[in-house]
Amino acid sequence: MKKISWLEATSIEEAQRAVNTTVSDALNKNYGKGAIIKSGGIDVLDLMKEGLIAPDRIINIRNIPGLDQIQYDAEKGLRIGANVTLAEIEGNKDIGSYYLALQQSVAKAATPQLRNMSTLGGNLAQRTRCWYFRSKEHACFRKGGAICFAKNGENEYHAIIDNGTCSSVYASSVATALLALDASVEIATMKGERKQVKMGEFFVPPWVEEGQENILEQGEIITAISIPPLKKGVKSYYIKQGARASYDWALADVAVVVEMSGKKCKKAIIALGAAAPIPIRVEDAESILVNEGISEESVLKAADVAMEKAKPLEKNGYKVAIFKTIIKRAIDKTTS
Ligand SMILES: Cc1cc2nc3c(=O)[nH]c(=O)nc-3n(C[C@H](O)[C@H](O)[C@H](O)COP(=O)(O)OP(=O)(O)OC[C@H]3O[C@@H](n4cnc5c(N)ncnc54)[C@H](O)[C@@H]3O)c2cc1C
Repeated sequence: MKKISWLEATSIEEAQRAVNTTVSDALNKNYGKGAIIKSGGIDVLDLMKEGLIAPDRIINIRNIPGLDQIQYDAEKGLRIGANVTLAEIEGNKDIGSYYLALQQSVAKAATPQLRNMSTLGGNLAQRTRCWYFRSKEHACFRKGGAICFAKNGENEYHAIIDNGTCSSVYASSVATALLALDASVEIATMKGERKQVKMGEFFVPPWVEEGQENILEQGEIITAISIPPLKKGVKSYYIKQGARASYDWALADVAVVVEMSGKKCKKAIIALGAAAPIPIRVEDAESILVNEGISEESVLKAADVAMEKAKPLEKNGYKVAIFKTIIKRAIDKTTS
């Protein structure tokens, strides 16, 4: 049996000194070894069980002080430490009151047991659940191979938009809500700095970088997520459709943020998960709501336009109808 050593990190700096690879590098450079960080450990353990990584050392960042706080301030907005669990986010009253879409996204993720273990930082950095990526037998594009096996294979759960290079989808459905809510990711860099990255710039699509789905480099650690305060009158809503109600990732999910002023729609954000390899905003659909106002026709039109770029694969055409339905329902919830 392989021996694995364990470091119980007590500070970000100690963890960073000990890390010598990212999970992405461990997978793509095909050596699978090295020292990697874990928080909740759900995905790290799965990747080990799947035989995709075999670290020599695990750096546990789960108990580093100061990463487990949720702070809300009406002027500054929300700040959630990277080690806060999904269950803690679900149960937080301020998040329920002011950032409903975020609360709904965590409440719909995984199962209660998994939400008790899963941290926000680990959730955002988990790897795709594409079954070809997760199979040791398939050297797929996201693992540094030449092809995407899903494109002409079992692709019912895969991307319907921007799926030409690789058709896997991002596993975090919480990221869909964070994208719509204009969240930023705070990252501790190896230079000892803290940088802020907008959620939309955190994701890396496969045509930019095949081997990783986010911008995290070796040793970089997410320390917090922050979301600006929402103006009065701004509502958010999140809907996830899975194959099962629990214990499953999204087939399709949507987060909508709408600012109304009387009957006028001043601002609309529509973010989709499990549609493309990374969470996306559908800006053409958003502008219909702003330009044409909210009516049965404009909402249906926005849902149609959101799917205009869809090019489903052989087995996932059904996702288009699901997306149109949940987009419409989410807009209705924020405007009624
Ligand atoms: C059956 C099942 C269903 C699920 N359904 C959903 C779902 O519907 N929606 C959803 O969003 N999620 C879902 N998940 C994912 C789950 O909720 C966890 O969020 C996820 O697996 C990883 O969280 P973790 O804290 O355990 O991370 P870990 O396993 O500890 O880490 C995951 C990755 O992130 C890196 N990492 C961890 N913390 C940090 C940090 N602070 N900074 C930088 N890198 C870090 C690790 O090195 C590793 O690469 C599901 C999981 C399972 C098993």
